[in-house]
Amino acid sequence: MKKGIHPEYHKAIVHCACGNEFETGSTLKEIKVEICSKCHPFFTGKQKLVDSTGRVEKFRNKYARANKNSAAKDSS
Ligand SMILES: [Zn+2]
Repeated sequence: MKKGIHPEYHKAIVHCACGNEFETGSTLKEIKVEICSKCHPFFTGKQKLVDSTGRVEKFRNKYARANKNSAAKDSS
């Protein structure tokens, strides 16, 4: 390998939002992820919405409000 042009490669700890941690190799020492093989629906086999930004929640709130005020005119 040519010297001085390759980034340093070492062990990295990956932290997932679900609390899972595992080790891998990377040029970074620490990696933070939102989803990993422990919590991704593909691996868990459970149907689950991946919603880290709360868009589903926002829609549900909006829909609930719209239903409640269905008789009244939309004020928003
Ligand atoms: Zn995870």
